[in-house]
Amino acid sequence: MFNIILLGPPGSGKGTQAELLVKNHNFFTISLGEIFRKHIEENCTNKTFIQKYIDNGELVPDNLSFALLEQFIQNTPKGKPILFDGFPRTMSQAIFLNEMLNKYHTKIGCVILLDVAYETLLQRLKERAIIQGRADDQDDQKIKTRMHIYAEQTLPIVRYYQEQHLLYRVDGTLSTDQVTKSIEFFFDRLL
Ligand code: ADP
Repeated sequence: MFNIILLGPPGSGKGTQAELLVKNHNFFTISLGEIFRKHIEENCTNKTFIQKYIDNGELVPDNLSFALLEQFIQNTPKGKPILFDGFPRTMSQAIFLNEMLNKYHTKIGCVILLDVAYETLLQRLKERAIIQGRADDQDDQKIKTRMHIYAEQTLPIVRYYQEQHLLYRVDGTLSTDQVTKSIEFFFDRLL
């Protein structure tokens, strides 16, 4: 079984699906968003640096993301597939990921794109702001910045993976359970 990328705009359900999928499948999962939030919670040395980007809805600079990602891949037992939740988000990250996977003699098995309409995303992020209290979900401007980054920087990698015939679209507006089933349908056929 090869590695999986979960792609989708903020609020499309990547984190929720990663959490559910990992229960039934033999892989590790990594979310840089989660790692960054943990760094902030635990008052790590680069807390202020990371917080500035997350709170503005901007991407954390590549040098830090790349170092964390390589560390994670390096520490994953050989042969154990990884589910990447929200990485890559830019072309430079996609290229870096390819290089890393090559270096560790593995590759991408499939890229799952969670498709959700813009209005639904906004509504979900507002609900999540109340439930989880994430600062980056609480402010319209921050949400706009994240959506803009997705459109400008992440959508090009959707096309990139599509051209490599690695991309599979899943309707992310279905129930959580149905989305999981749709993703697993691809896993069964591909991995
Ligand atoms: P969402 O999918 O709603 O953006 P995440 O928890 O995946 O939520 O990400 C939260 C924040 O963490 C992002 O807005 C960004 O600041 C940072 N982050 C997450 N993934 C990346 C990444 N691949 N590159 C740079 N920054 C990232």
